[in-house]
Amino acid sequence: MARARDPIADLRRIAFLLERANEATYRVRAFRSAAKALAGLPAAELTERAGNGTLTELSGVGDVTARCVAESLAGEEPVYLRRLVATEGSDLDAEATALRAALRGDCHTHSDWSDGGSPIEEMALAAVELGHEYLVLTDHSPRLTVARGLTAERLRRQLDHVAQVNAALPEGFRILTGIEVDILADGSLDQDDDLLARLDVVVGSVHSGLKDERSKMTRRMLKAVANPHLDILGHVTGRMVSSRPAGVTGPGDRGHRARTRAESDFDADAVFAACAEHDTALEINSRPERQDPPKRLIRRALEAGCRFAINTDAHAPGQLDWQRFGCERAALCGVPADRVINTWSAEQLVAWTHNRP
Ligand SMILES: [Zn+2]
Ligand SMILES: [Zn+2]
Repeated sequence: MARARDPIADLRRIAFLLERANEATYRVRAFRSAAKALAGLPAAELTERAGNGTLTELSGVGDVTARCVAESLAGEEPVYLRRLVATEGSDLDAEATALRAALRGDCHTHSDWSDGGSPIEEMALAAVELGHEYLVLTDHSPRLTVARGLTAERLRRQLDHVAQVNAALPEGFRILTGIEVDILADGSLDQDDDLLARLDVVVGSVHSGLKDERSKMTRRMLKAVANPHLDILGHVTGRMVSSRPAGVTGPGDRGHRARTRAESDFDADAVFAACAEHDTALEINSRPERQDPPKRLIRRALEAGCRFAINTDAHAPGQLDWQRFGCERAALCGVPADRVINTWSAEQLVAWTHNRP
């Protein structure tokens, strides 16, 4: 039987690309040892085992490598390989543009109620001009005092205010209520439960203790992800790849003034598995100085089955247009539109946040 692809070559190619991307050795080794184990197998047996799902009985062959082999034997480029190749920097402009066009709103934005530079009304009007159907307002929570985080009392007032603003906005657009709630040192969320339950969308982020040691940070994130109020895990690694972007000055960007900062250390596979289990979306933060998560982690979250939210974390109206940066990175990693929660309508989004397990 003629075969369109050589599965062993595909496994080796994957190993090579993982190495070039500086991935952990054990990930590379998984593909190399599978290639080695399968290279000694007669072609007929390989096809038979791929057909009846017994490849994983061979030592050195796991679920992921077996799936790659089955796809290769079927004549398809393995999905795993395709994502890796895409991340290598081929031109995916069309995909990024299509993804951006599919977005109907933004789930992470700030106003001058916390550390943003503009009133809620201005942020909303800029979102209308961009063609959004909704904007989720996610000002900071109480403990983030440097960013004028909202107390429960101020947040209640903000909810009343948003209702008034919404009444005056054009038909077909609305501000959804929300918060960027701090994930505290013990993994709990920095706002009253009754308020979190009342909000349309809850983004949770780590803003303190970013250098927590690995097991502590992992526990902290796992507890937050398991919290039924948390809908979206914000800028997961906390990294800063550059100082504030050119042209962004003034009080509108407090809290994002940090210089370069390393990624927090945590067990990404465990956190992403928990996100998939609890149906908590992982944010792809579009801010140029954040670019968080890095592409290698977006790819792993995709493999883990996570949903994503492509957000701007805008602190000023012009920054609402930064979504295209996040789309570019998502498209490079092969994130399909149907895994992105802000391709949904406001109704679908709110139905999801209120009915998640
Ligand atoms: Zn934040
Ligand atoms: Zn933010």
